[in-house]
Amino acid sequence: IIVFNDITQFIAQKNEYIYFAYHDHLTKIYNRQRFDELFLKEIENKKRYKDHLSILLLDIDYFKKVNDTYGHYIGDLILIALTNLISKNLRTNDIFARWGGEEFIILLPRTDIDTAFTKAQEIRSLVEYHVDKELPLITISIGVTEMNDSDTTKSCLQRVDTALYVAKEKRNDVVKIT
Ligand code: GH3
Ligand code: MG
Ligand code: MG
Repeated sequence: IIVFNDITQFIAQKNEYIYFAYHDHLTKIYNRQRFDELFLKEIENKKRYKDHLSILLLDIDYFKKVNDTYGHYIGDLILIALTNLISKNLRTNDIFARWGGEEFIILLPRTDIDTAFTKAQEIRSLVEYHVDKELPLITISIGVTEMNDSDTTKSCLQRVDTALYVAKEKRNDVVKIT
């Protein structure tokens, strides 16, 4: 019995290691390393099926101020609630990952830039009105782009980052760059 228990625990621990190799500890969505792998796979799919692939980069507005006002613990709860809300509003094949502290990235396979822009507006609006009624209100800014045939992962990520940068001029805004 003792041996059996030891093995069960060992397997549980191993599964946990595997899980957190791919997922962010706080929000449980994919981490950046997993995103990088899935991004390459989606680029392959896009090429093979001559399909669209769009990218959204999201950043919470004035999040430093939220932490300063309500504390880091509430900040963490906001990050969890935000990712839960967004996850619920994505398709199963969409890829949602934590890009950095309060920045998130979403890959939308088989989605052109105009559809991605509409989706981004929908997410922006959802967040603005009800991340969680128990938590302080926040807004997010989103950059949108679509991968084109001459793109590398780097050029595509640079473009979506620029789009987010432009969205930050107004905040609570979505900007697309083709
Ligand atoms: P901006 O509108 O320009 O985006 O302003 P900002 O204050 O959000 O600026 P920035 O994006 O540079 O701020 C990131 C902040 O996010 C700083 C850091 O304290 C906070 N942050 C990053 N990761 C976490 C986290 O895991 N938990 C909490 N509570 N805060 C985090
Ligand atoms: Mg940021
Ligand atoms: Mg921010």
